[in-house]
Amino acid sequence: MAKFIFVTGGVVSSLGKGITSASIGALLKSRGIRVKLQKFDPYLNVDPGTMNPYQHGEVYVTEDGAETDLDLGHYERFTGDYTSRASNATAGSVYYEVLMKERRGDYLGKTIQMVPHITDEIKRRVRKLDTPEVDVVICEVGGTVGDIESLIFLEAIRQIGQEEGRNNVLYIHLTLVPYIRAAGEIKTKPTQHSVGKLREIGIIPDVLICRSELPLSKEIRDKISLFCNVQAHAVIEEIDVKHTIYEVPFVFAEQGLDTLICNQLGLRGAGRDLTKWRKVVSVLTRAETTVPIAVVGKYSELQDAYKSIYEAIMHGGVANECKVDIRKVLSEDIEEKGAATVLAGVKGILVPGGFGTRGVQGKILAIQYAREKGVPFFGICLGLQCAVIEFARNACGLPKANTTEIDPDTSDPVICLLEEQKVVVDKGATMRLGAYPCHLQPNTKALDAYGEAEISERHRHRYEFNNKYREAMSAKGMVFSGLSPDGELVEIIELADLPWFVATQFHPEFKSRPVDAHPLFRDFVKAALNRKDE
Ligand code: GLN
Repeated sequence: MAKFIFVTGGVVSSLGKGITSASIGALLKSRGIRVKLQKFDPYLNVDPGTMNPYQHGEVYVTEDGAETDLDLGHYERFTGDYTSRASNATAGSVYYEVLMKERRGDYLGKTIQMVPHITDEIKRRVRKLDTPEVDVVICEVGGTVGDIESLIFLEAIRQIGQEEGRNNVLYIHLTLVPYIRAAGEIKTKPTQHSVGKLREIGIIPDVLICRSELPLSKEIRDKISLFCNVQAHAVIEEIDVKHTIYEVPFVFAEQGLDTLICNQLGLRGAGRDLTKWRKVVSVLTRAETTVPIAVVGKYSELQDAYKSIYEAIMHGGVANECKVDIRKVLSEDIEEKGAATVLAGVKGILVPGGFGTRGVQGKILAIQYAREKGVPFFGICLGLQCAVIEFARNACGLPKANTTEIDPDTSDPVICLLEEQKVVVDKGATMRLGAYPCHLQPNTKALDAYGEAEISERHRHRYEFNNKYREAMSAKGMVFSGLSPDGELVEIIELADLPWFVATQFHPEFKSRPVDAHPLFRDFVKAALNRKDE
């Protein structure tokens, strides 16, 4: 039987519950304890797949093809383990399940209620992760204590505490301890109120993790301990880290959080081994070389829209013992000012995934610049599709080439829908999603990077390369270096004459880890490092 850790958040949102939960997972794993992480999202969308990045940031895709919250990306990067469809549940998906059962008549005439029917479904989702391969389930409840939406999730996790017994369940509450500049003081009152709210529901936190700008003095910790009814050594400070989020596990380790968790839950782990993590943090804080790489997107002002891409680029830097100065470039800026102005001085250009027409022209201009100047280029998903369009237009004499996503009537649909996608009308969860096998061709940069011909990567797209154009483009020098096992789907393209010009239809960023950079990101950063100034 697994133990359960529930992570809730108080005072304000955006305190970094995801990174906190992931860091706890990493610490327990470093002691040989087997963990599984899960996230509950209190909103009503059935999954975040239909939400735009302004609402929700990146949509993270799991091996089994679920479109999930970006915190699952943190979970995978910090623990190195794969998450799955079961690792993320929204209130919408919980209600949906219960209502479907009601319609089927599964409840045999009963009145369906929040308690026990919705709470039972939530508890079922939590316990689904309790398998013989798991020692601890870490479950993060999204939202902030006091929200109407998250109440039902808190009720469900309270019940689990009752049912499993207090030695098997640990409640961790993440709060903000603000520094009020005008008063020159650190304030504990918001934390007291937040814990008070939790206790009203019947949850008594065992551990408080306090986000703060400044270190907490012994007096402050004692005060929090006294007013919140939490032992002083269980008041943990999570001070803003200086260089990288990968420092957070060390912040907790120094305060013995993992030991405290193990003692309270009766877990017998091995000694903590953070050797690999130490190297990551050391490169990210001390590396002397910094390489400038542009990410040309249409949501470049949003920190979270390309989360896994930014992380994977950083991992690529770690593998090459350098830092990367990621320049977030708005593709529309390139449309306005020209690629040469906006991209001057960068040593690598990455064009990430995306949907819709806005910004595509700027991406195409960026790719043309990369191809003509030989700047290392990495295209991902829409980035591959734009690279194909650019090559068709400017190297193959097809000026009207386009994707049918943008121009359904184009005379040269180099990117288009497959027959089976044409009949799909629903928008939710209907793309090509999740892990698919891919076969790499000999003498290619892709094979160089992976070092093996059979790979598997995660997808999230509707449109594909149109095979009608394979011959013409290949005659002009485009190499189709990764194909589906039946040879039908183009998964990777590259241009052999250039130092490094590779684009993938899949999303390699989802499988990159700080301690184990994705081979394509590693080689892309390496090519950027090797680029000589013009
Ligand atoms: N919009 C493109 C498609 O649906 C690309 C999607 C993506 O970049 N994730 O195929």
